[in-house]
Amino acid sequence: MRISVDEARELWESATDEELIERAQAVRAQWHKPKHATYMVMRIVNYTNVCVAQCDYCAFYVLPNQDGGYVLSREDVFAKIDELEAVGGDLVGFNGGFNPKLPLEYYCDLFHSVRERYGDRVEFYALTVAEFVFLADRAGLSYADAAARLRDAGVHWITGGGSEILTEDFRKRHAKWKYTVADYFEAQRAIVESGMKTTATMVIGFDETLDERLEHLQRTRDFQDETEGLFSFLCWTYKPYGTDLGGEEISAHEYQRWIALSRIFLDNVKHVRTSVLTQNEEAFRALDFGADDFDLPIEDEVTQKAGARIDLDLERLLEVARRLGYTVEYRRAERPELAAAR
Ligand code: SF4
Repeated sequence: MRISVDEARELWESATDEELIERAQAVRAQWHKPKHATYMVMRIVNYTNVCVAQCDYCAFYVLPNQDGGYVLSREDVFAKIDELEAVGGDLVGFNGGFNPKLPLEYYCDLFHSVRERYGDRVEFYALTVAEFVFLADRAGLSYADAAARLRDAGVHWITGGGSEILTEDFRKRHAKWKYTVADYFEAQRAIVESGMKTTATMVIGFDETLDERLEHLQRTRDFQDETEGLFSFLCWTYKPYGTDLGGEEISAHEYQRWIALSRIFLDNVKHVRTSVLTQNEEAFRALDFGADDFDLPIEDEVTQKAGARIDLDLERLLEVARRLGYTVEYRRAERPELAAAR
């Protein structure tokens, strides 16, 4: 049965691990076989590190005209995707900064060329909603028109990345140049209506309050009730090293409990994904807390710069899940039927 924000608060503050696991597993069982999980092998391709947003939790960006800024050439992008294919992966996540020198045409050309070269062999998450908001604004286009341009360039997915904590207060404290929460959901609605697919994400472990975390979950559930457009919910943890904000990492145990609460609260989202990128082996224990799916990433400069450690021994990682009693099955990214939506 659906829980309210007050009930979620009560569970977070008072429930034992066993209670959280039992309730999370009951929701998980509505969608998935017990003791079975799916995964993807993927690579984040950070196409530029130039960014004007200046989020204080970010160790990745450089400002325009500062030393160290880059934009990957098409050949660099292809080389990274070729390497991904060589290790058996087929999902690319493009993620970069808010680079004011890159027009919409740069993105359309890049995505078109990736689609042309790799066809259906490789799927890609073209942008995060945050980057999408920025480039639509820069191009002077409505979100609907920008979404249509990208879709027509071969884009199937724009993920819910860049959301961190979706409250206006959080954004004012840490990312005031990024977007408002209202912009975020307006843009994501346009993405859904264009026929592309999208996801929800959340990052915990900054200085957010419990109320802010719960507001994020509530907004996510409401959006899903309205649109049914969210394929999955992925939560990961803030890495504080080298950032202006600094701080300390939260424990794996707190992360796992939050996965359970998210699984219980987001009863309308099919997949709850655990983050190997930020939790390494500890991520698999979150399967017991209600997660059903995960990525094995081979690169993500954004989180690696802030302290994430990537383990390229993918078989060893899968063994951790198997030792916890799970069968693991490779999952390909879905290809939406875009023609019907046009
Ligand atoms: S988190 Fe993203 S938007 Fe924020 S400063 Fe870093 S690259 Fe820019």
